[in-house]
Amino acid sequence: MGTRRAEVVICGAGIAGISVAYQLAVRHGLRNVILVDGRPPLSLTSDKSTEAYRNWWPGPDDAMIRLMNRSIDLLEELALKTGNRLQMNRRGYVYATGDRVIADEMRDLAVRAEAQGAGPLRIHTGRNSDPDYLLAPPEGWQNQPSGADLIFDDMLIQQVFPYLSPVTTAVLHARRCGWFSGQQLGMLQLEAARSAGVSLIEGRVESVKTSGGRIGGVRIAHRGGSRHISTPRFVNAAGPMFNQISALLEFDLPVFSELHLKVSIEDHLRVVPRDAPFLIWSDAQRLAWTDDVRAHLAASPETRPLIGTMPAGAHMRPEGGMGSRHVLMLWPYHLNKVPESFPLPILEHYPEVCLRGLATMVPGLEIYRERLPKPFVDGGYYTKTRENRPLACPLPIEGAFVHGALSGFGLMASAATSELVARHIVGDELPPYAQSFHLDRYDDPAYQTILEDWEGSGQL
Ligand SMILES: Cc1cc2nc3c(=O)[nH]c(=O)nc-3n(C[C@H](O)[C@H](O)[C@H](O)COP(=O)(O)OP(=O)(O)OC[C@H]3O[C@@H](n4cnc5c(N)ncnc54)[C@H](O)[C@@H]3O)c2cc1C
Repeated sequence: MGTRRAEVVICGAGIAGISVAYQLAVRHGLRNVILVDGRPPLSLTSDKSTEAYRNWWPGPDDAMIRLMNRSIDLLEELALKTGNRLQMNRRGYVYATGDRVIADEMRDLAVRAEAQGAGPLRIHTGRNSDPDYLLAPPEGWQNQPSGADLIFDDMLIQQVFPYLSPVTTAVLHARRCGWFSGQQLGMLQLEAARSAGVSLIEGRVESVKTSGGRIGGVRIAHRGGSRHISTPRFVNAAGPMFNQISALLEFDLPVFSELHLKVSIEDHLRVVPRDAPFLIWSDAQRLAWTDDVRAHLAASPETRPLIGTMPAGAHMRPEGGMGSRHVLMLWPYHLNKVPESFPLPILEHYPEVCLRGLATMVPGLEIYRERLPKPFVDGGYYTKTRENRPLACPLPIEGAFVHGALSGFGLMASAATSELVARHIVGDELPPYAQSFHLDRYDDPAYQTILEDWEGSGQL
């Protein structure tokens, strides 16, 4: 029942909360920071991620690319300092298409990404004058090209990616991308934060006290009772419960959630090379079902979409070291705004649908069509804003801050977004892109125009 005092209380010990605690205690030397969570650290969404990163975020402006470049700089710094405890690689993201129209769009996007700071674009058409194409090593991240290789040269595609479908007409290989251990990122920061004095309290934030328009304290429910912590600053880093915690302050955040699932299977026939990059099929597609299965799927409104045109974006990557046989498969074809509920509602046909969609890109996977290796499915919620940009800023309540709407990029972005939140808290200088991740961007007429154009273009 006791009362304690803290400089900052952070609600949530996922990657969002831990990274802010790390920034405050380790980078800014703030004492008496408390992290509160009723669950073990990183155990709700942050350990369900595909753990990939990319600076490939062409948008209507350069804010996301700048943010991700900064975040990847910080991840690389940490990898360097710890002998790559993060197991960071730089295999890249490979977007493949069998559609010439999509290939042209890839070129436009790549030109835009280069102009926005993602790095140089190298186009390969099979001419002698082509730039060199450098193979990505399976491990490590250093001394690799950035930007992208856009490959229209069939021979080069076949030589580097022989497992891709022969209908592939273009491949965009974005290079400042890869994956790393999200668990190591979180634990490294948590260990350093705790050594620098951060306390982790097991419990649930049940109310936040304000008086005179400023934060006064937080009430935490825990096994056997509740306690009050007196504090002038509170950070909402509650992941999928971002809105619930905001409601404690009677403040509505412009966010919603989508369910995202991930399948792991043992690729025991070694169809996908262990050194493959992150692979994404950029084309919409229709799956081939037998007549009786088609009739069965057509009978229910939930499964009927599976017989229509399915969206682009089926993706996969090898999981584990070179000796592992696991692959991760994802295909967000089922996206609606949904209430966040746990345990997660798992879609009945998800593993099979993912496999079929990915077999369009990697035809060797067809071999599993008759007998799918036992799938393991998990996932979580992408809690996001309408334009899929995070919120890392103060609220108009003195002492209240938010670090969330981290959608499908929370691990890769959190190093830079937590830096923003910590700088807001200690009153440090902010980088030029900070405003793009501030809640009051929506009050800016110029940003509204950008958003409306973007939505109108169908690219959101
Ligand atoms: C399938 C999938 C694939 C993904 N792939 C990638 C990827 O490749 N790369 C990438 O960068 N990102 C990826 N992401 C996104 C990334 O996982 C999330 O953005 C990130 O984990 C969000 O972190 P968080 O800390 O905000 O939320 P969480 O990890 O959910 O943490 C929130 C914490 O807040 C706590 N909490 C909530 N309410 C309270 C309360 N009242 N009191 C105390 N504590 C509370 C919860 O218990 C929880 O521990 C993926 C996500 C999914 C679902």
